[in-house]
Amino acid sequence: METYDIIVIGAGPAGILSAGRAAQRGRSVLLLEKNATLGKKLLLTGGGRCNLTNKNITPENILKKYRNSGKFLFSAFAQFDVKKTLEFFEKIGIKTKEENNGRVFPTSNSAKNVLETLTKYLQKNNVEIKTNSEVTKISIDEKTKNIIIEIGGSETVSAKSCILATGGNSYPETGSTGEVFDWLEKMGHKITKNNVALAPVALSDNWPKKLTGVTLNDINITVFQDNKKKFSIDGEILFTHFGVSGPTIFNISKQVGDLLKSGKVTIKIDLLPKIKASDLQTKLQNLFQENANKQIKNNLSELIPSSVALAILEILEINAEIKNNNLTAQNRKKIISTIKALPLNVSGLIANRAMASSSGVDLAEVNFKTMQSRIIPNLYLTGDILDIDRPSGGYSLQICWTTGYIAGNNA
Ligand SMILES: Cc1cc2nc3c(=O)[nH]c(=O)nc-3n(C[C@H](O)[C@H](O)[C@H](O)COP(=O)(O)OP(=O)(O)OC[C@H]3O[C@@H](n4cnc5c(N)ncnc54)[C@H](O)[C@@H]3O)c2cc1C
Repeated sequence: METYDIIVIGAGPAGILSAGRAAQRGRSVLLLEKNATLGKKLLLTGGGRCNLTNKNITPENILKKYRNSGKFLFSAFAQFDVKKTLEFFEKIGIKTKEENNGRVFPTSNSAKNVLETLTKYLQKNNVEIKTNSEVTKISIDEKTKNIIIEIGGSETVSAKSCILATGGNSYPETGSTGEVFDWLEKMGHKITKNNVALAPVALSDNWPKKLTGVTLNDINITVFQDNKKKFSIDGEILFTHFGVSGPTIFNISKQVGDLLKSGKVTIKIDLLPKIKASDLQTKLQNLFQENANKQIKNNLSELIPSSVALAILEILEINAEIKNNNLTAQNRKKIISTIKALPLNVSGLIANRAMASSSGVDLAEVNFKTMQSRIIPNLYLTGDILDIDRPSGGYSLQICWTTGYIAGNNA
């Protein structure tokens, strides 16, 4: 049986970084990936542009951004923070730029280019890469404490240390199918299971389907459970064939999922949050008076996107082609209240399209100074395997770079 210093399982961002860093330290490293190619999920990131990290990940912000997980991350970020990550990328040939809300992208705007450059980094450091190699079992040799790894149910290799980087269980078609959690549980780790985070939201209404592809910016979203207001947030929304998506929706999806467990959830969108309802009343009245002979759909389109104006008129069962002077005062009021609180009935989260599963290894069971398991000696845990709560916007990949680097540096 061939023995390596380190075997890394999973060639996503966390696995690639840990394998490269460990090999840079002169260790013999084998990287195992079950897909035919590396980084399948990485290629999807940022809509193919790869939102690498976020400049707002600072010591002051860690608790705010990573919420309950934050307290575990200070020692990790003290070793490999955003600044060090960007220096690393620059060194291997990935130039970056900052966009809005601190989000950092490669100047190439290409996740493919990021993956190709990281692959060259692995090759340059002599990491042995085996694709089409699904790990089917992990065990410990009681005598040597080496980790024994079974590939494809037949071949066996061993290592002094093993870095697990098999991802969570979101977007399973990219390879992260989560079976590793069962192994870890059997080996004594506590695992949070089946929570979904950063997911699109499915709606039971039919009318939003007609808005597929429409994005609404600068709106306010209020979430209700059984008609009781729960929270409100400014942001944006993208209508899809199944419901709604986009960064703001991803960021509230975990809370929406929790609320769904014990009640009916409705989202109400204020399409014009900067205009008070009373001012909107005056504005509409003036608009309708000045254009008395215009069709109502055309007048509304001066305030909100025409597709949304049509949807509102459909919901309210108002003929979109009537002239403004034929609109009753009651219907005008209804239009105003719908612009200020467009209702969307939530039917669930779209779990198989989630960017992250907020499930994984209990953080108290990991030493974040080294990423070593506190339960299983010689095992290191990185990336989406860890139960880390985070927003969208580069915060997930930074966890992979940081935990991957630290594991590679310590294994
Ligand atoms: C559509 C989408 C867009 C995203 N965009 C962003 C973004 O712009 N910015 C951001 O920060 N985050 C983004 N994310 C989240 C980010 O992609 C993940 O956090 C990140 O990929 C996790 O990396 P990882 O290395 O932990 O796991 P993964 O990337 O999931 O990689 C795990 C690898 O392990 C392999 N594997 C699993 N089991 C085995 C096994 N038994 N044997 C061998 N190999 C195995 C898998 O095939 C896979 O290649 C996005 C996610 C999605 C789905």
